[in-house]
Amino acid sequence: MKKFDYSEDFLAQVKILFDKGFGERRIGKILNINRGIARISIEKLNLTSKDRTPIKGKDKMDVSNGKLCTGPCKQVLSIENFKIVKYKNRSDGYCPKCIKCQKEYHRIKHSSEHAKNKRKEYRKNNREKLNKIAKDNLNNNPILKLRNNVRNAILKQLFKSGVSKNNASCVEYLPFKIEELKNHLEKLFSHPDNLDMNGKIWMNWENHGAYKKPDWDDQDSTTWVWQIDHIIPHSEFLYLSMDCDEFRKCWDLSNLRPLCAKKNQTEGGKKIRHKKI
Ligand SMILES: [Zn+2]
Repeated sequence: MKKFDYSEDFLAQVKILFDKGFGERRIGKILNINRGIARISIEKLNLTSKDRTPIKGKDKMDVSNGKLCTGPCKQVLSIENFKIVKYKNRSDGYCPKCIKCQKEYHRIKHSSEHAKNKRKEYRKNNREKLNKIAKDNLNNNPILKLRNNVRNAILKQLFKSGVSKNNASCVEYLPFKIEELKNHLEKLFSHPDNLDMNGKIWMNWENHGAYKKPDWDDQDSTTWVWQIDHIIPHSEFLYLSMDCDEFRKCWDLSNLRPLCAKKNQTEGGKKIRHKKI
C-alpha cells in the first residue's frame, strides 16, 4: 500500500479546517481523504478534540482568513473568490467551491451528451411554457423586441431573394446599434404625424406590434399599435447580402420611422406615403 504523504501543505489545510471547527469526518469529506487519514493528520498536528470549537448550528463561520475550496483546486482562497449562496443553511453563507472551480464544474456538467439530451427533451416537453416565457421576455424588453423584429424583416427579404444569411449576425451589419434605433424611434413618437386625434402621444414601447383588425378602434388610441416603417419601402431595395450599400441605405436610421400599424397595413402597397420626416 502506498504511504500517504502528510506534507506540510496538506497538514496546513487540515489545520485551517480544524480551526474552523470541522471534525475528522468533515475534514475527510472536504479534502477527499478517508476519515482515518484526517484523524492521523490531526494527531500529527498535536491537536485533540478539546482544541476544537465545534460549529454550532447556523453560526456563521469566520472567513476573514480565507476559505478552502472543496473543488479540484483545493486551495485556501480569499473570500472574494466565493459566491454568496442564497440558501441560509450553509454554515458560512458561501458556496463550498471557488468561482473558478464552480464554473468548470458547470461547464463539464452542461456539456455532456447526457445533459444535452436532457435539455432537448425538456424543451420538447415544455415547448408551450418556454414559448410563453420567450414571448413575455420579448414583450418586456424593447431592445430584444426591436432586434428580433429587424432580424425577421431582413431574413424575410433575403429569403425572397433566395439567399440565406449564412449564420451571420444581422446586428453586426446594421449601420446602427439597436439602442440607437430605439432612441431614434422614441424621438419620433412625438412627431406631429404620429399624434392621436387629440394631439397626444400614443406610441410607446408597450404598443409596438402588428395590426389586428378586430382589436382596432379608430376612436380609441389605446387600441392602436405601431410598427417600424421603411420610408422608402423595404421592397425597393435589392440586397443579396448584408454587406452592401443597398442594405445599408435600406436600414439607414433616416429611412426608418415608427408608423401607425393600420396606416402601414393599408397604405403599404400604395406609394403615397414616402415623405421624409
Ligand atoms: Zn477551487
